[in-house]
Amino acid sequence: MPTSKNTPASPAPSPRRAARETASAAPRRVAIIGAGIAGLACARTLAQAGCEVTVFEKSRGYGGRMSCRSTPFGGFDHGAQYFTVRDTRFAQALQIQPGLCKPWAANTVRVLDPLGRVVEAAQRTDTQVVPVPGMNALGAAWAQPLAEAGRVHLQTRVTAIARDTVDPRRWQLATESDDLSPQVHAGFDQVLLAIPAPQATDLLRASAVAPGLLAALAPVRMAPCWTLMVAFPQATQPGLTQFGPQWDAALSAHHRVAWLARESSKPGRGPIERWTVQASMDWSQEHVQDDPQRVVAKLLKGFAEITGIRAEPAHAQAHRWLYAKTVQPLEQEHLWDAQLGLGLCGDWCLGHRVENAFVSGLTLALAALRAPLGARPGRGH
Ligand SMILES: Cc1cc2nc3c(=O)[nH]c(=O)nc-3n(C[C@H](O)[C@H](O)[C@H](O)COP(=O)(O)OP(=O)(O)OC[C@H]3O[C@@H](n4cnc5c(N)ncnc54)[C@H](O)[C@@H]3O)c2cc1C
Repeated sequence: MPTSKNTPASPAPSPRRAARETASAAPRRVAIIGAGIAGLACARTLAQAGCEVTVFEKSRGYGGRMSCRSTPFGGFDHGAQYFTVRDTRFAQALQIQPGLCKPWAANTVRVLDPLGRVVEAAQRTDTQVVPVPGMNALGAAWAQPLAEAGRVHLQTRVTAIARDTVDPRRWQLATESDDLSPQVHAGFDQVLLAIPAPQATDLLRASAVAPGLLAALAPVRMAPCWTLMVAFPQATQPGLTQFGPQWDAALSAHHRVAWLARESSKPGRGPIERWTVQASMDWSQEHVQDDPQRVVAKLLKGFAEITGIRAEPAHAQAHRWLYAKTVQPLEQEHLWDAQLGLGLCGDWCLGHRVENAFVSGLTLALAALRAPLGARPGRGH
């Protein structure tokens, strides 16, 4: 198992580690940075192939942008709203946990004009799928075997990647936990970054280990998104038959609001009336540095104009996703440098959807598995 230490490694390898290094049957040791759906697709594929996988995630939970915010009124899928399943490999991966993901009635989606009037019922050919009871449930299920084996470090931000000070054929990671305590985790044959492209750029730049990969990331662009979460427990009072619009989800041409969804209409969610509202890309970009309370007020106004719901919400909260949506993708499934044993994956490789993230993570894992081990430090491409 890769070592973890609070101080830099001593120069001499321990006999135990040296013995492991010479054992031909030693499993491949892979570090994965990021426990979003790309990182977890990658991690589970490598673990199933017999690799010793360790996952590092800076936040408290799994799923990344496919997440769920818990509140006293119920959860909000404040990142991805649903996903499609077009790729047969994704379909197979989902079949392993039957009942975890359910269809969300596609006929509820409406397209609204800037004043909130229905202009068309969107024609959907794909089933919209949601994990139950929240979007993060899929990531949590995929992470569970690794977490039970003690192979996931949550609340652990990777701050630098460097050659292992004991064995320069391998890699070590410098990390910082939420209390800012630093650690070094060493002994990895391969390091895979499953984080948004701008964050991968920062990490590779700070580490100065792979100029070729850094250059390949340059064309990728990602945009922010402000999300509003509002709850109206008063709407569930007995005798109140209808609250707000007839539809449950809509794409919108309003200048502030691009998407609205009634969380309580999704399968397996609590009954309290609550809505997730996503601001348009232009508005989010323009207001990216705004104070969250100001954003709540502005998006609430847009929400009222569109839905006609003018009641005071019992809960109103805004969340800013700095790297929400890919504007310019890489246009290849992943990045992999076999000489270095470093790779990158994420939705931004192919697009801006959950399914893109899955395919990217899966194909990077397969590329990493094909690579021979023991390459000496190289210059990268
Ligand atoms: C508001 C919004 C709405 C969306 N709606 C949809 C939708 O309806 N349908 C759809 O298919 N997709 C949607 N998406 C996109 C979808 O969420 C993403 O495509 C997908 O979740 C990306 O997965 P990922 O694993 O590539 O990245 P992420 O989910 O971003 O995972 C990256 C992980 O890496 C962690 N991390 C970053 N840096 C470090 C570090 N240095 N050390 C340790 N950990 C680190 C992050 O905390 C995060 O957990 C939406 C996204 C947003 C934000």
